[in-house]
Amino acid sequence: MKRQRNVKIVATLGPASNDYPMIRALFDAGADVFRLNMSHGSHDEIRERHKIIRQIEKDTNQPIAILADLQGPKLRCGVFSGDSEELIEGQAFRFDLDPTEGNASRVCLPHTEIFAALRPGATLLVNDGKLRLKVDDCGPDFANCTVQNGGTISNRKGVNVPDVVLPLAALSDKDRADLEFVCELGVDWVALSFVQRPADVDEARALVKGRAAVLSKIEKPAAVAAFHDILAVSDGIMVARGDLGVELPVQNVPAIQKRLVRSSRAAAKPVIVATQMLESMIESPVPTRAEVSDVATAIYEGADAVMLSAESAAGAYPVQAVTTMQNVAVEIENDPTYREVMDASRLAPSPGVAGGMVAAAREIAETADIKAICCFTHSGTTAAQTARERPRVPILAVTPFENIARRLCLTWGVTCVVSEHVDRFKEAVIYAARAAREKGFADVTDQIVVTAGVPFNVPGTTNILRVAPCDERLIFRNDPE
Ligand code: ATP
Ligand code: MG
Ligand code: MG
Repeated sequence: MKRQRNVKIVATLGPASNDYPMIRALFDAGADVFRLNMSHGSHDEIRERHKIIRQIEKDTNQPIAILADLQGPKLRCGVFSGDSEELIEGQAFRFDLDPTEGNASRVCLPHTEIFAALRPGATLLVNDGKLRLKVDDCGPDFANCTVQNGGTISNRKGVNVPDVVLPLAALSDKDRADLEFVCELGVDWVALSFVQRPADVDEARALVKGRAAVLSKIEKPAAVAAFHDILAVSDGIMVARGDLGVELPVQNVPAIQKRLVRSSRAAAKPVIVATQMLESMIESPVPTRAEVSDVATAIYEGADAVMLSAESAAGAYPVQAVTTMQNVAVEIENDPTYREVMDASRLAPSPGVAGGMVAAAREIAETADIKAICCFTHSGTTAAQTARERPRVPILAVTPFENIARRLCLTWGVTCVVSEHVDRFKEAVIYAARAAREKGFADVTDQIVVTAGVPFNVPGTTNILRVAPCDERLIFRNDPE
């Protein structure tokens, strides 16, 4: 199956998307990457979802990326006896350390450090800032508040205290345990929440030990300020607009999104635009016009991926949400303006042979009538560099490593196949021609561009480019080996 678009779709799994039929339906509708949020759900539930995704991968013979999102030092309330409560403007509500289930007048907030730092007059924001409470009175184990903006509060919702600086470690004990658990299980990306400094990423990477790629969620003002250095040590980026729009004035978010997407693209690292993309679809089968426009904006910006959170994890219309993203993506990417924007925003090639090679591959493919760029890649770098060019033609990445194929599911425009053993360039060209036909990119009468590094199977730079027919009978005996 060939996806008819470049931008990738990340779908968060949760209670609304728990079993094989539903997760398969999300995949069939267009999800390329599944996000497992470690803030919600037990290890057993995570293990079960992981198993289902790997089964779908087998059944469809397509690599699928799994992204495990670590909770990080996010403050969350406890659970309610009725799972949720409606808070009304003007009412009193108490946060405390009592671990029993919450009700309409109180809930547990299991973070002593918040109570230590709170002062009367401080503001508490709940659920990405949707609810606002003012602290009237507080002590080491409680805060009595008045609700200023009401709404629904439910199990384990995030709590922000924008007026107060909290001394928090980058990885909690829970994060360390979750990290080891998901790495053992075998995930492709680990996302770090509330990164503040490059050292936070280094710390996590030392624990990941190469078992997954490391993605930084940008949701703190400190991370925005240090973005250049955080990007340098990360494999990917998420513009985590939920907490970002609480930690900073909400009107600052669009400009930050643009800057983060642009810098990540320049660094050839995948960037996800996340949170509230189709928020109304949690309860409605159709999106608002503004939401469609938001998804479109991320696509016009050239983001690698757009993401669904509660829409697919806990909403009433998970498949419709993926289908909406799919339909928007196809429509936008077929708009001539999209092409103009991609071409106008292209950066100069990265210095070096690899940068020159991918630029040349794109130039040839777009100048001649070439159906796909096939790149042989060990680490995935050549595929990422090819994607950085945002070419008009599809990118077919061929790699011997399943984990690299999975990781590349997050990268703009890349379709990945895991190759059998290939050890000569001619064999590679034949393999690429066949794969391009099988994947529906090209016919037997078409041509493709193939890039690779020779000698084969020695990781290093790409150094050979060939325009090849898709009919392997035409790949002559005297072709370069
Ligand atoms: P983050 O800050 O990491 O995005 P979040 O709480 O906003 O955390 P999302 O993954 O964005 O979580 O999902 C949005 C909402 O969907 C959650 O707040 C929760 O109500 C619901 N949800 C998501 N995943 C699950 C799950 N596995 N179990 C229960 N509820 C979930
Ligand atoms: Mg968040
Ligand atoms: Mg969220």
